[in-house]
Amino acid sequence: MNKIVREAPNSFDLPYRVKRLAEIAHNLWWVGNPETARLFKDINQLAWSQSNHNPVVFLRLVEKQTFEDLIKDRYFLERYDRIMREFDAYMNRADTWFHETYPGLKEEIAYFSFEYGLHESLMVYAGGLGVLSGDHLKEASDLGLPLVAVGFLYTYGYFSQRISEDGWQEARNVELNFNDLPLIALYDENHEPIKIAIELPGRNVFARLYELNIGRNKLILMHTNLPENTPQDRQLTDRLYISDPELRISQEMLLGIGGLRALQRLGHKPAIYHMNEGHSAFLTLERIRQLIGEGQTLEEAKKIVQKTSIFTTHTPVPAGNDEFPAWLVDKYFANFWGDLGLDRDQFMDLAKVKTDWSDEVFSMPVLALRLSNYRNGVSKLHGEVSREMWQYLWPETPAAEVPISYITNGVHTGTWLARRLGLLYNRYLGPDWKDNLDNPETWAKIDSIPDDDLWRVRLHLKRKLIIYMVSRARYQWEHNNVHPVQTVASGVLLDPTLLTIGFARRFATYKRANLLFRDYDRLLRIVTNAQKPVQIIFAGKAHPADEPGKLLIQEVYRKVKDARNGGRLVFLDDYDMDMARHLVQGVDIWLNTPRRPREASGTSGMKAAMNGTLNFSVLDGWWAEGFNGRNGWAIGDDTHYDDLDQQDDADANSLYDTLENEIVPLYYTKRSADGLPGDWIERIKECIRTTSPQFSMTRMVKEYMNDLYAPALLASGAEEKP
Ligand SMILES: *Cc1c(COP(=O)(O)O)cnc(C)c1O
Repeated sequence: MNKIVREAPNSFDLPYRVKRLAEIAHNLWWVGNPETARLFKDINQLAWSQSNHNPVVFLRLVEKQTFEDLIKDRYFLERYDRIMREFDAYMNRADTWFHETYPGLKEEIAYFSFEYGLHESLMVYAGGLGVLSGDHLKEASDLGLPLVAVGFLYTYGYFSQRISEDGWQEARNVELNFNDLPLIALYDENHEPIKIAIELPGRNVFARLYELNIGRNKLILMHTNLPENTPQDRQLTDRLYISDPELRISQEMLLGIGGLRALQRLGHKPAIYHMNEGHSAFLTLERIRQLIGEGQTLEEAKKIVQKTSIFTTHTPVPAGNDEFPAWLVDKYFANFWGDLGLDRDQFMDLAKVKTDWSDEVFSMPVLALRLSNYRNGVSKLHGEVSREMWQYLWPETPAAEVPISYITNGVHTGTWLARRLGLLYNRYLGPDWKDNLDNPETWAKIDSIPDDDLWRVRLHLKRKLIIYMVSRARYQWEHNNVHPVQTVASGVLLDPTLLTIGFARRFATYKRANLLFRDYDRLLRIVTNAQKPVQIIFAGKAHPADEPGKLLIQEVYRKVKDARNGGRLVFLDDYDMDMARHLVQGVDIWLNTPRRPREASGTSGMKAAMNGTLNFSVLDGWWAEGFNGRNGWAIGDDTHYDDLDQQDDADANSLYDTLENEIVPLYYTKRSADGLPGDWIERIKECIRTTSPQFSMTRMVKEYMNDLYAPALLASGAEEKP
């Protein structure tokens, strides 16, 4: 009974000697192990880039003869065997951090998120939240945590962006081709696809289940585009962050309620549940309903759910939170509250918010905060902001004591560190550096790397970024009929020897992409300086419904096309994880200009820092913790002006001053006889030494385990049996 048949729909015509490449293609482990990507690339570089670095597509594209030749190549086989040995050792490792630290804990941790950023070819993410979830899963596997995750398999990926000649963002939906993805299809004993159902008003909605292998763990994905569903229900998993409120509440019911049923259908019995943002908070209600069905009282069930729920909030402004009007909750939960023994008003009271910014609404974060005993923000500053923002839920408690803690975000080193830097670290940081990523002692050895070796890698990465920009520009000219001025605007004239700044992020107004233009003439003098010019690369999408965000892109794009900047400003369209990797590894400076304290954490700056790209940022989110005066630069200080104009003026002036007086001179002058900018390299080393351990995903997931998961597991009744 309950037999599950797992089938990878893709098979490849591979020679026996290298047949396990198919296995690698179906485990996202390879993404965090750049030597594997390098092996694929060396098999056939053109096919690798045509496949968008997707091994499933790639293995289909490469001709059989290529493999027949390769299995006669001793060097290739050595590399193949080494990667397979590493993969096997990884999958079977018994002495992971988790096993060593919590030898008795066996119970599973469930993780819920709306989106997962695992790789550019798997477009089930929109941005930072998804990349954080994806990195969390990879690291949980690296550390040996028994974690199982749930999310959606969308019909369309997050939109692909093109910029018109006049700078207007055009969004195109790209349908995912499931045959191109490393999905594992799940069947029951009769070879029927495994599905779950949830009840929506007057009908059942079915979702088919798939799995992705993330190292040792699994991510379960739900998909509703099935013939048995109504046309509207088939759209539930069409795309990320649907704005239509009825679709949205249905989607969130599917995530929370359906997600729990999916876990159960596949035989998982997690002891604790982590909700990454409030989108999945209906999970708590379904758990209470099931516990009551097993004979608990409402109060007992609530207590059990609270003891075993972890909620991470990411939103520092009330308006950004996910909430539903009361009439919608009436419509969708009228058959639900009876099961909890509640009437309508008692049910609404679970998550009711009525404040000066909204009418009576049902708030997902409020539901999650009330029904989780473990709650956290995503940086120190964001923890403070969250405690103040939600203080009204604990009216007797002063803000400083509101029970919301913080765990600062991190990034997955294997995914974001340049392969070449990894090779340098292999030589200088000791053989076990990858097992000690969060240990400052590992990184103290960074000083032993010779300056010219480090600088050579940095220059190589900048050249690689420029080659990437040129090939994209060429492709667009050939395929998309762009105007030649757009080709110039996409970076083909950049010079790898010049100081290069990157600014890539979602175009939301609080991120102030136009802060650089506050005194445009002053900026022009900086970028066109004859001896010490500066190049600036912009990239990023605006949410398709965010008109001010799209206007911001247009403002930036028009400046980029302005002849007066001498080609020093660039805008790259269609920001994704691939572009993020090239940018954070390739530029010299990573710029971030949010309006403090709106940046809950930010993670792209951490990716940059671990690659020796120096941050130049407002002291907001993670950088308020990361900056030490010597490992990058700050924009402004913590002064807060109530007047936004005044704030923008102060921040812009600080930005220009620091660029002119510190950053540009440090990059261009004080070169040694062999042409090395010694003081700049000193800063790079300080940056890598201080930020790599502190903002590693290793540190982050260990903190989730030690501070939230372990106490919740013990409270759940899971026992440590040494
Ligand atoms: C890392 C990343 C983000 C998040 O970066 P922020 O610093 O939070 O803006 C967004 N999009 C992509 C593609 C990323 O790789």
